Amino acid sequence: MRKLLTTLCLSVSISSAYATTNQDIGADNIIMVVADGMGPTYTTAYRYFQDNPETNKVETTIFDKYLVGTSSTYPAKMSGYVTDSAASATALSTGVKSYNGAIGVDVNKKPLLTVLEHAKTLNMKTGVVVTSQVNHATPASYLAHNESRKNYDAIANSYVDEKINNNVKFDVLLGGGWKYFIREDRNLVEELQQQGFQYVDKYDDLANLRVGKPALGLFADVGLPWALDDEKGRLANMTSHALRLLDNDKPFFMLVEASQVDWAGHSNDIAAALLEMADLDATMQVLEQFVAKNPNTTVILTADHSTGGVTLGVNGDYLWKPEIIHRMKHSPNFIAKQLSEEKLSKAKVNELFNFELTEEEIKAIFSKQDEVFADSELASWKKVRAIEKEIKEIIDVRTYTGWTTSGHTAVDVPVIAFGKHAAVFAGNQDNTDIAKKIFNLIDSTQQ
Ligand code: MG
Ligand code: ZN
Repeated sequence: MRKLLTTLCLSVSISSAYATTNQDIGADNIIMVVADGMGPTYTTAYRYFQDNPETNKVETTIFDKYLVGTSSTYPAKMSGYVTDSAASATALSTGVKSYNGAIGVDVNKKPLLTVLEHAKTLNMKTGVVVTSQVNHATPASYLAHNESRKNYDAIANSYVDEKINNNVKFDVLLGGGWKYFIREDRNLVEELQQQGFQYVDKYDDLANLRVGKPALGLFADVGLPWALDDEKGRLANMTSHALRLLDNDKPFFMLVEASQVDWAGHSNDIAAALLEMADLDATMQVLEQFVAKNPNTTVILTADHSTGGVTLGVNGDYLWKPEIIHRMKHSPNFIAKQLSEEKLSKAKVNELFNFELTEEEIKAIFSKQDEVFADSELASWKKVRAIEKEIKEIIDVRTYTGWTTSGHTAVDVPVIAFGKHAAVFAGNQDNTDIAKKIFNLIDSTQQ
């Protein structure tokens, strides 16, 4: 089953034959969590961020508690040592290394069977919950086959058009993406509704989703807002509802992605990154509680790569001080948008940051504002970007945070696992091994 399949049609026909001989004996759930961009510095940073200042010790996190190993992330040789999210998610979903940009296809652009497709073929339920658009590189690598991650519309179309056992590949799909699902040429939301899906577009309506019917929830045009600007615990909340919908008579495979740790890394934004980690922490706690009640479940968390080359401690100072970030109620991007529109009083600026800025910091912000307001030609998004950069610099200096790149880095990433078969993921492994182990778990427990 895990050999390279020449066409998806072939995969579906083989799969159908396969499914008839395999009824669901035993019911092992597998939950794969990908924290996009979460290299080891992010789990370390989060430990110090959530450290209780009242106690002498540094408290451990849920990531420390269940750390079992590490994973290498390099793509197929033709793409060097630094992977993108598409190649790495393809390795995690299929067990095969591919080129940067590849979505569920090998170096020859041939489709590869994914763990999610394999699970669906064996009549397991399947769910995907992400904070990016649902057709972004990571979820797409579990659900689709495309030569390029950039073909967003084609990838979204394939979610509706490609079938396994006469059904789409997912029973639950939650995240962002109206832009790609509600288009001039096709309304994929309506098409899925015609195929029996229930649909919600507000977090508050998640509770209205009923068990027993497939569910689609899209909550933003593209990705969801930063955790720092959104409803608290948005990923944890979506994940709870997905578990409620998936956990019934059949075992399930679910992919959960904390998509925006990576986006915070690209943006070199330590405040946004730590709050994405806090949402992931809340999500892992939801999963921990689920495993306590459903011990036949295995949860694996890893990253596809690290992003930003983030460093805790800079310029020879033996310090890293994330405390002010606890006070922040808005992302640097949100604050920058306000400051790109109008001149505000010092008191108002302090209110936006929710911590007291020094005279120099205020001066730096006001002079950046003067600079962008003086240039009437400057596009508004460029104004936001310039002011946001100034804000992030203030936070980096205050917290002693450093960055080496706006892109990805090649370091190995943590592997965290708990539940029934957590031990399988112990030690140092390659990202392709994680998929191979999941295929084996599905095969050994569903047959
Ligand atoms: Mg991703
Ligand atoms: Zn990235």
